[in-house]
Amino acid sequence: MLRLITDFDGPIVDVSDRYYCVYQDCLEQLRPRDRPVKRLSKSEFWQLKRSCVPEREIGVISGLDRDRARQFARLRSQTVHSSPYLHHDRLIPGAIDALERAQRSGLDLVLMTMRRQRELEEALYRCGLDRFFPPHRRYCIGNDEAKSLDTQDKPRLMRQALMELPPAGEQWMVGDTEADAIAARTYSVKFIGVLSGIRDRQRLNPYRPDRIVEDLTEAVDLVVERATQVVS
Ligand SMILES: [Mg+2]
Repeated sequence: MLRLITDFDGPIVDVSDRYYCVYQDCLEQLRPRDRPVKRLSKSEFWQLKRSCVPEREIGVISGLDRDRARQFARLRSQTVHSSPYLHHDRLIPGAIDALERAQRSGLDLVLMTMRRQRELEEALYRCGLDRFFPPHRRYCIGNDEAKSLDTQDKPRLMRQALMELPPAGEQWMVGDTEADAIAARTYSVKFIGVLSGIRDRQRLNPYRPDRIVEDLTEAVDLVVERATQVVS
């Protein structure tokens, strides 16, 4: 049996509209009344996120002074995962088809995300994704659990998953950030980076993914092909 562990935001769900909406609202709240700010376009903003420019820097680029930029970054991190904004998330085209193909091909599907349980469940049920991931195949952050850095929390989730899940022949992880790459690498799980999320190729490359592909569709193709090789 081959196992496919997938991240949620990036491979399955596109959060760029939500993040941009939060950016606009936070900028509006923090902008000085006596002079204009430079509101970035969606594509300018998302390009900065994909190249990992810190929020505070995005505030400065948008015309805030250092002090306001610091407040902007704080407000943004308090807001971005709050429920009024979650409905901006969209399914990535082809993601459902890819999950169906993975399921039909007999891959053991596991979800691993930095979302809190309630944020994850809201999206799973709203988008009809719960059928791919029964509760014992979901690894996420508890509703009241403390969060540290994704690059520390994600390997912790991976460790827990590998301890609890039944043994698998080969395990692949699909994700869009350095946290996914680190989690996979730490536990010798093969890693496929996808470019449909919040990092570009330049940011993913240093983490030496086994492969970098456009999206979940390509990632599933790759693992399904691998499954036929392993069986034959
Ligand atoms: Mg992600």
